[in-house]
Amino acid sequence: MSAPAPVTVALATLGCKLNQVETQEVQTLLEAGGYRAVPFDGPAQVYVINTCTVTGKADFSDRQMIRRAIARNPRALVVVTGCYAQTDPEAVARIPGVDLIVGNQEKYRLVELLDSFTKRREPAVRVGDISMAREVPAVPVTNLSGRSRAFVKIQDGCQHRCAFCIVPYARGPSRSQEPKRVVDQIHQLVESGYREVVLTGVDMGHYGWDLAPRTTLAALLRLILAEVAGLGRLRLSSILPAYFTPELTEVITASPTVAPHLHIPLQSGSDRILRLMRRPYNTRIYRSLLEKLAEAIPDLGLGTDLIVGFPGENAAEFQATCDLIQALPFSYLHVFSYSDRKGTEATRLPGHLPPQLIAQRSKILRQLGRTKSLAFRQRLVGRPGEVVVLESRDRATGFLVGLTGNYVEVLFDGPDSLMREFVTVAVTGVDGGLTWGALAT
Ligand code: SF4
Repeated sequence: MSAPAPVTVALATLGCKLNQVETQEVQTLLEAGGYRAVPFDGPAQVYVINTCTVTGKADFSDRQMIRRAIARNPRALVVVTGCYAQTDPEAVARIPGVDLIVGNQEKYRLVELLDSFTKRREPAVRVGDISMAREVPAVPVTNLSGRSRAFVKIQDGCQHRCAFCIVPYARGPSRSQEPKRVVDQIHQLVESGYREVVLTGVDMGHYGWDLAPRTTLAALLRLILAEVAGLGRLRLSSILPAYFTPELTEVITASPTVAPHLHIPLQSGSDRILRLMRRPYNTRIYRSLLEKLAEAIPDLGLGTDLIVGFPGENAAEFQATCDLIQALPFSYLHVFSYSDRKGTEATRLPGHLPPQLIAQRSKILRQLGRTKSLAFRQRLVGRPGEVVVLESRDRATGFLVGLTGNYVEVLFDGPDSLMREFVTVAVTGVDGGLTWGALAT
């Protein structure tokens, strides 16, 4: 008698890179548990939706994705996990067709939860108290080759309490992965052929404070650079300004392996709004840090996050944000329209702005972002630089896509054999949001 066919599972991710890493980890665990992963847009016996809840819009997208899975196969088992499931399991449970709601820590036990699961009329909720989480689960890395860039989760959770942010409720206190585990994982990734590794976390600058012995992000970077031979490029994701100690700045600026790209969230250019937001810096600190970094790192790709329309933001305060953005050497902006997140301090603040005004201000900042990006990319024209070639071509043009160290995607002509390689490309021109290049000979 032949063995029964493995149960098919389709996974979808919403939100940040960290969530993408976690979906990948959950998939690895499910495959090790005998499930077969299939594309999300086709039929499957189990659907897993790993949700995000950073804004009201994210919740909306989560619900759309959940409904899409239910419509695709009404007999399938529908599992909802991630930050929306963690913070508002009741809202998820109200969606007809959801079977199992799983918290951010519990998703690492999904195989066991599925094994003991029987479909009922009401959804089962397996969401624990995330404030008790103390570890970053480590999932063995397998089946990794075939891609150019890998994301490695070194930290989870956040110990800050920014007034607008629901993330600490979704992800719990700050906790770090052991340095040795991080190094081992990067070793394996490099051996599997990955060219670029991106370190990720919720509050990555806080790395190591909870470990015994205590350590720092700077020390971890030094260790990776010293221990992992053959690592092409190491990129850092978002870091708060306060974490840029002289030691961290030194390791970032001194190593040619660390990508010249930093993402340093600002949120507002008004000190009063930053105080209301409970952000741990002011515009003077922010400005002087960025000026110092831009001076130390040539052609630094510099990104930031901005929240538009925080309660009480007046016209002058919004203008202060625009002026600060204008004055600093950003290469791209991530603009978020403020939306109330359940249970956060900002929901109780006076002076909520009408949605039309928030939309209008967001549009102005997004336009400023496009202008800054264009100016940054224009400066690169005529100059050769090393790019890692991504594993798929640009859909619209059919060209290869090379990612520069300073985080610009350059489109250029070349054979498939260059995919996942480092090559030198000269930027030949920019055209709106696109950047064109040619292989340097
Ligand atoms: S630093 Fe603030 S905005 Fe960032 S995750 Fe922590 S609480 Fe949220």
